[in-house]
Amino acid sequence: MAERFARIIIDISHEKVDRTFDYRIPERLAHEVTVGTLVLIPFGKGNSMRKGYVVGIADHAEYDRDKIKEIAEVPADGISAESLLISLAWWLKERYGSTMNQALKTVLPVKQKVKPREKRVIRCLLDKEGLLKALEEAEKKNYKARVRLFQAFLENPVIPYEIASNQLNLSPAALKPVIEKGYADLESEEVYRNPIKSGKITCKGVDLNAEQQAIADSFCKDYGENIRGTYLIHGITGSGKTEVYMELIQRVIEEGKQVIVLIPEIALTYQTVMRFYGRFGSRVSIINSRLSAGERYDQFERARNGEVDIMIGPRSALFTPFSHLGLILIDEEHEGAYKSETVPRYHAREVAEKRASMEHASLVLGSATPSLEAYTKALRGEYRLFTLHSRAKKDSSLANVSVVDLRQELKEGNKSIFSRKLKAMMEDRLEKKEQIMLFMNRRGYANFVSCRSCGEAIRCPHCDVTLTLHKNNRLVCHYCGHSVPMPDKCPFCSSPYIANFGTGTQKVEQMTKKLFPEAGILRMDLDTTSKKGGHEEILSAFSEGEADILIGTQMIVKGHDFPNVTLVGVLAADLSLYTPDYRCGERTFQLLTQAAGRAGRDFRPGDVVIQTYNPDHYSIAAAASQDYEGFYRHEMAYRKLMKYPPASGLLTIQLSSRNERLLTEAALETARFAGPLAEKDMVQIIGPAEASVYKINDIYRKILYLKQENYDILIKIRDSIDRFSEERRDLFDQVLIQYDFS
Ligand code: ADP
Ligand code: ZN
Ligand code: ZN
Repeated sequence: MAERFARIIIDISHEKVDRTFDYRIPERLAHEVTVGTLVLIPFGKGNSMRKGYVVGIADHAEYDRDKIKEIAEVPADGISAESLLISLAWWLKERYGSTMNQALKTVLPVKQKVKPREKRVIRCLLDKEGLLKALEEAEKKNYKARVRLFQAFLENPVIPYEIASNQLNLSPAALKPVIEKGYADLESEEVYRNPIKSGKITCKGVDLNAEQQAIADSFCKDYGENIRGTYLIHGITGSGKTEVYMELIQRVIEEGKQVIVLIPEIALTYQTVMRFYGRFGSRVSIINSRLSAGERYDQFERARNGEVDIMIGPRSALFTPFSHLGLILIDEEHEGAYKSETVPRYHAREVAEKRASMEHASLVLGSATPSLEAYTKALRGEYRLFTLHSRAKKDSSLANVSVVDLRQELKEGNKSIFSRKLKAMMEDRLEKKEQIMLFMNRRGYANFVSCRSCGEAIRCPHCDVTLTLHKNNRLVCHYCGHSVPMPDKCPFCSSPYIANFGTGTQKVEQMTKKLFPEAGILRMDLDTTSKKGGHEEILSAFSEGEADILIGTQMIVKGHDFPNVTLVGVLAADLSLYTPDYRCGERTFQLLTQAAGRAGRDFRPGDVVIQTYNPDHYSIAAAASQDYEGFYRHEMAYRKLMKYPPASGLLTIQLSSRNERLLTEAALETARFAGPLAEKDMVQIIGPAEASVYKINDIYRKILYLKQENYDILIKIRDSIDRFSEERRDLFDQVLIQYDFS
């Protein structure tokens, strides 16, 4: 038998996972050693035995064959969380195209020295009456952080310090006087944890309604029969998905298994976090991106040691080193934040599916607007589909949605950004002292051109995405490169009202101030939230009633609940419809549905006004009538016609370089090289075209798209292109090539 060698890392929590050592695999261990296996190896001059993990296997060694040592043994203590994560890293590398180091750095936490920090809780020492008095006093003096803390105490007399500081924005300086006055105390969590260790759960969940119960029953039945599957819960905001999640979690941890809950960072609010904490106590751990690498490592250590069974967090919580994983839950499954923007460009849903199947765990996805990917799999029977049809709270109803045609407004002489209907409703709410949210769903660089008379946007005849206006006054397609001069009249109706579309939130703020000089206005966008905690600060100011109107981008439609908001205005629903991206119809539908979900969460019915130049567009019409199925049918037909995912696999190859000439040549050569391979395997190649932002920081970027239903074929072509780029160092020394599957 040919000799085989294992590439081994010794210190997995060290920053340098790229430090690997080669060892020969003895024949007697040939069947046991694979990627991820824990092995014992003789190390260093004294050949002391060390533990290591196999991260790769090769039929040649990179070192002198004679000096290479042999793996001593595979210890019997079974598979650890690390082994599983390392095999997952291997899959990430193969699937998404990265180096093994990049993949390992994604799945293994970086160890950093943190001073061992005691876990602490803040305990309220006041009785109900005293607390209400303290709250009143704090309100009077306008101590905002204190008000937030006291309000939180009303629901939970014990709050983990971490949650108070991250989610309530409570600084040590704000806490100090509260403690000095004897209102509250800081205690070590050990004191608090003990009762929970004995199995007592702090509070029981609500009684599930029939639809919720049916989901829980099906899941538990499967779980009891050792069936692990993927489930998709489709339910509008407020339909009670979170209550269902908690029921499932309880079932799984009762079996001694562990649970990972992914929640988009923006929805990891104090309310959400405390709901889990209130039910599961300190068996829950929470991570977010504001934790330092050291603090995150700390949380992962607690998970590894079995101190917690439930890890809640954004995308990266997926790599929690649990070794008895029973369930992964992904809330708001459709969220863009689940896709990694750095190499390896993985999607959390796909990785969760992989990890769940490797570790015999179940996967539950939830959304009010499921991604086309997930819903398609559910319809095919790959996922089990559940639907929650109505809001869980009896007295809460869905908002009334009306669509206003801005073309008609213009025809009737209204050139303002506010339709007459929206303006009248705003006046009404301001008078009633109810709150208003104005929403601009503008994304990045939506430099498309559209007609204010007929509402048409100018699109690429080949790709059905909008053309982007460039400084040289040409319209360019960022998928195929097609380009035309900017017309001076609308090509559809000949109106001269044709222009670059795009009003910023700042301009909206100015115009709102002009129209309603008395109203208090807050604005939330990238400019106003860039400083740490800015986001949370603006939202709490608004929820505390410090302003009448909140203006913002899509950030404002997610997460937070504002009971006093009874009107949501979407100023130009079309903005997100015309980004040069095949997903824009889906994103528009999601954003509008979410925006509509913001109004009328409470007993008062809410109103939503959607202003648009395209009232008949299916994304807008379906969002207005809350018709997910109708939207899905339309959108899927479009994806099928254009061969976009999930109807087809799409591989995006991005080439980038400071040297524009080399970049152009490399892009053309890559396309030329891939051409015959693609033809043989019936792969469609599109491009090269310039990326939608062609130059960033003096680096130029070009894009090639490959479409084919079968992902394995795309992966095969990617591997060939990778080898080609290795061989052509003349071109690729200065050109970076990156892959992205979607
Ligand atoms: P979602 O996660 O789908 O947005 P939630 O689980 O947050 O929905 O439920 C919305 C609100 O309805 C919450 O206040 C929740 O406590 C309440 N709720 C959910 N299910 C029930 C139920 N069966 N009975 C009473 N209230 C419920
Ligand atoms: Zn027109
Ligand atoms: Zn095109």
